[in-house]
Amino acid sequence: MTGFGLDHLPYGVASHQGRDLVVVRLGDDVVDLAALAAASPPGFDASVLAGSSLAPLMAAGPEVWAVVRSWLQDTLPDAPASHIPLAEVEMRMPFAVADYVDFYASLNHASNVGKIFRPDAEPLLPNWRHLPVGYHGRAGTVVPSGTPIVRPRGQRRPGPDGRPGFGPSQALDIEAELGFVVGAPSAMGQPVPTGAFADHVFGVTLLNDWSARDIQAWEYVPLGPFLGKSFATSISPWITPLAALDDARAPLPGQDPEPLDYLQVAEPAGLAIELEVVVNDTVVSRPPYASMYWSPAQMLAHMTVNGASLRTGDLYGSGTISGVERDQRGSLLELSWGGSEPFTLDDGTTRTYLLDGDTVILRATAGSITLGEVEGTITA
Ligand code: CA
Repeated sequence: MTGFGLDHLPYGVASHQGRDLVVVRLGDDVVDLAALAAASPPGFDASVLAGSSLAPLMAAGPEVWAVVRSWLQDTLPDAPASHIPLAEVEMRMPFAVADYVDFYASLNHASNVGKIFRPDAEPLLPNWRHLPVGYHGRAGTVVPSGTPIVRPRGQRRPGPDGRPGFGPSQALDIEAELGFVVGAPSAMGQPVPTGAFADHVFGVTLLNDWSARDIQAWEYVPLGPFLGKSFATSISPWITPLAALDDARAPLPGQDPEPLDYLQVAEPAGLAIELEVVVNDTVVSRPPYASMYWSPAQMLAHMTVNGASLRTGDLYGSGTISGVERDQRGSLLELSWGGSEPFTLDDGTTRTYLLDGDTVILRATAGSITLGEVEGTITA
């Protein structure tokens, strides 16, 4: 398969013959990195590649990341013996998620949601252009691609009798996002400036922030998302190293008003990554990441400006990626405009929100690189 050449080399954890291995993907193979290091001893401490989690490598920091990557690019072309066909392994959760934060960094998405949820008010709340809005999510329910998603139950808005409804969500949705994986930690009390983004962030993964809109709409005031989001978040098992996205760096669309000093960022601070949202084999949307208003470096700086520390395994989502156009919207909430405008799949059926048995796949490319996809199927 294209998109997984030597210019990419995403990291993951693969289960093979009863053992969990730290691997990179090369084409349609995975490469066992501990075995590769035993066969071709590298000039660094190879213990970061042993074990069954990416955490030791993630924690080692940017100098080690660069050395390992360049060793791989030098060694892999001559080491076919360490390859295992992708079809013979099962991908695992690549690291234990420490804290999970989700942002709301798309101007188009925030504007659309404002228009749908608060039709008589200004779509953007007064803080939105001054800070990357976010909330703390649930690390323990971040799951790898392929994990079935059980339709959540919960409360929804009261009907005419004044009592809240309760039961399985009737408005189960997706949010197409990028996730940023923190490798190197930071000390409590020491904010991480935008310029230190690449010193801490190890890589990028596709992320689907499953969302129950009916539960969310009733519970979210005044403290924000809670049970409408925390039941499941899916990520790709493949973590694309930041270095593989050097050529995808792109300028932000423009920020007005100019943000405060701690949110100033050196351009190009955005990423030109093209996504696809696939529902049951129909591509329903193609969100462009380059349209995002707030950059990942600004999200990281904002998340730590109060002195909050970073831990290895922290994960933060970009928020739903929605472009300007209708067919670039990254949630079904927007594609169906709050459930009022059903859209049609290739099999002739229509959807507003997801039905039991529906499968959603997020895909993405950045130039010659294909990000690992994230897939999930709804069960009752
Ligand atoms: Ca989200």
